[in-house]
Amino acid sequence: MAKEVVLQPLAYSLSEFTLDTAYTSRELSKSSADLSVEIARGFRINIPFLSAAMQAVTGPELATELARCGGLGVIYCSQPLSGEAEMVRQVKAMPPNAAEYTYPFKTLVDKQGRLVVGAAINTKDYAERVPALVNAGADILFIDSSHGNTDYQKETLEFVKQHYPHIPIVGGNIINADGVNNLVNWGATGVKVGMGIGSICITTDVKATGKGQASAVMECVATRDKLSDYIPVIADGGIGTAREMCIALALGADAVMLGKYFARFEEAPGNKISRSDFLQMFPGVDRRLDPSIEYLKEYWGEGSLRARIHQEAQYRYGQNEFAEGVDSYIEYAGGLKENLGRTLAKIIKSMHDAGANSVKELREKAVVRLASAKSMSEAGAHDLISYHKVALS
Ligand code: IMP
Repeated sequence: MAKEVVLQPLAYSLSEFTLDTAYTSRELSKSSADLSVEIARGFRINIPFLSAAMQAVTGPELATELARCGGLGVIYCSQPLSGEAEMVRQVKAMPPNAAEYTYPFKTLVDKQGRLVVGAAINTKDYAERVPALVNAGADILFIDSSHGNTDYQKETLEFVKQHYPHIPIVGGNIINADGVNNLVNWGATGVKVGMGIGSICITTDVKATGKGQASAVMECVATRDKLSDYIPVIADGGIGTAREMCIALALGADAVMLGKYFARFEEAPGNKISRSDFLQMFPGVDRRLDPSIEYLKEYWGEGSLRARIHQEAQYRYGQNEFAEGVDSYIEYAGGLKENLGRTLAKIIKSMHDAGANSVKELREKAVVRLASAKSMSEAGAHDLISYHKVALS
């Protein structure tokens, strides 16, 4: 028999919950809503959004646009360290253009007025990579691992704490109380939660490990809430819609890290492909492809074969002989700023409906409810002859 077999409660995903309403006062105006959050002790960003440290998501172009909008791009480490340091440098050299990024955006800059950017590191070459990234101007580091509750992560955190005590460092990923406690004790100043739930992720499918994202967030937040010294929790993976973002924040995540959401945008590094080119590459898919899709973008996991071939990305998924991610396509969605503006508008409205005017207040006031499958089937348009799904973001 296993040490423990959990039959109840089941593990839940974010999309299985709804947010109750509360009294909405007139005072809760759109322009006074506060979306700023702490993502590591003492390190704030202006909107609760981070872009995933992935080849298909965060290059310098996307990190620049996201920082201009108030969020944080995390440059991927599945590349030689010189390439990653160069990407960090490029973001720090771009003009903030803050005047063009007004409400709901508030450009994220450092004390010298340069754009803020994060960088991922791995648990193998940290002794060389961390100094290079800090030198290049990285403002915050993220250890990129699907399983962060390890000796390797402990050694990496101890190295950063000893040599760069002023640099915020987010550990992860973890999915339970033990993971939170260990990362905090080893020196992490923020923790990242999620395993097996990313849109390109097949981790749970190939080796069973992982947990529904809502359950992982709830367990980690409950553990964090018992600590005397607050540590921010970032929910990473399986979050694609404003609805899922609202639930993650309401359950207590301080911010969300998004892969697929950002990979759809013009600024993401993946190639943009027209419908006809796509159909030429994959004849026979025609009938299954939504007729409204004109362009697609490539999106591949860091544990996919493609990511490994791309840049000798042997770090995150170790010496595994098998893939933990897939190589796929998603619908192209246009520019980041316009889409993000629409998503933020939904989040602000959701906060107001729940009686809150800030992310912190949302967490304090939220009444989150597990919904039955039948009630969720009525969440979208239903019982109609046909309809067009608009504004996915
Ligand atoms: P998404 O937002 O659902 O697309 O998930 C993005 C997250 O999935 C990333 O931030 C990583 O934590 C995780 N991830 C990235 N690549 C892989 C992979 O190949 N396998 C499993 N998880 C991955």
